[in-house]
Amino acid sequence: MASGASGASGSRRTAGGVRADLAGRVDQAQMRRANMGLILRHLRAVGGRSRARLAAETGLSKATTSSLIADLAGRGLVTEGETVRGGAVGRPGQTVEVDGRRVCGVGVEVNVAFLALTAADLQGTVLREDVRPLDVPHLTQDQVLDEVADLVGTALTALTTGGFRTVAVGVAAPGIIDPASGDVRFAPNLGWHDVPLATGVAKRLGTGAPPILVENDPKLGVLAEYAGLAGDGVQDVLFITGDVGVGAGIVSGGSLLRGGSGLAGEVGHLALDPAGTPCACGRVGCWETMIGLTPFLQRAAPADDAVHDPAIPLGDRMATLRRRADGGSISVLRALDRIGSGLGLGLSVLVDILDPQIVVLGGYFASFGDHLVPQVSAALAARRMEHGSEPRVTASRLGLMAPSRGGAHLALEGVFEDPTLLPPLAGGTSRTQG
Ligand SMILES: [Zn+2]
Repeated sequence: MASGASGASGSRRTAGGVRADLAGRVDQAQMRRANMGLILRHLRAVGGRSRARLAAETGLSKATTSSLIADLAGRGLVTEGETVRGGAVGRPGQTVEVDGRRVCGVGVEVNVAFLALTAADLQGTVLREDVRPLDVPHLTQDQVLDEVADLVGTALTALTTGGFRTVAVGVAAPGIIDPASGDVRFAPNLGWHDVPLATGVAKRLGTGAPPILVENDPKLGVLAEYAGLAGDGVQDVLFITGDVGVGAGIVSGGSLLRGGSGLAGEVGHLALDPAGTPCACGRVGCWETMIGLTPFLQRAAPADDAVHDPAIPLGDRMATLRRRADGGSISVLRALDRIGSGLGLGLSVLVDILDPQIVVLGGYFASFGDHLVPQVSAALAARRMEHGSEPRVTASRLGLMAPSRGGAHLALEGVFEDPTLLPPLAGGTSRTQG
């Protein structure tokens, strides 16, 4: 899942990947790193438990498990808490839990209308959120990269001063991304072609800055939503971003769906209205010309209304429209009705293809959940075939912050794959052999 670029040198990781050499030998240090990651991911998935139970559930020996836990504790990644009884027989053991309260990942979204930043620790606790309105299409690429680096640099300084270790920065951007290089290949709504986002920001932050990873915004949005659904037994999630562009993030069978070239979920340019209006991509009648932020604003308010002003934070503009909808504004309610029917039309196609358990309406759609969710649910129910799937429809609880929250998840994922990315704490109990 985590892939990305560290400055100019791109590197790819595979989850828990242990490579054997040609003779089939597995490097001992690699094996140890993989097993530490296994323990950390298991604790994240199932919660705190005793060493004995951890050993039994992971298939590692008790001695190896104890050694790996000592190493993880020495890096500040796990903690041993209260004493529990493991069962009817045996000595009581201490509960081992994910710690990482001083380990953080930073997520950033480069949106058409703003920059958003979320810093979260290894337990998922949000440490910091910043939103900065930015009219990206009317700025040069260098100006935007300057702003991103300034926002990230300010956060990194504050986090370091607060005693946090930032492991990576995960950047969400719209359009077609090359995760290996961290370049934005094509983002029509930003007017970007081949922009070196990761290397451009890394260069501005200077040496010593954490690695920069880049991924498409709905893919990071769905990771954040999926993390929030963990424990509900949900494995199949369809997340739709509502922005100037429209895109889907898809988790299928518990894994992020990327597709053969990473473009899975580029649903904003589905041809749903052949007699419709031209799209920024050069085609006509794309889904985002029906339900994107621009047609919504055009229908909801006259051109001189302040809700069109890019200098006002998008969240504030949506709150204004939300108040008008609650007050019975005919123009806003009619605009929402058009968005709801367009959403229902496209989602009925996607639900037939993907069979999700839950559909999450993100971005600006989330501000109008109680208007859009019933309408979309009714549209899906009306088209449902006998024995066909009927997913639950819900509005994102993270709203406009979902992609940057997902960026923080992506940044932290590297620690779950290779806990040795974090050096032992001074005075820690880490051991290097096991
Ligand atoms: Zn298009």
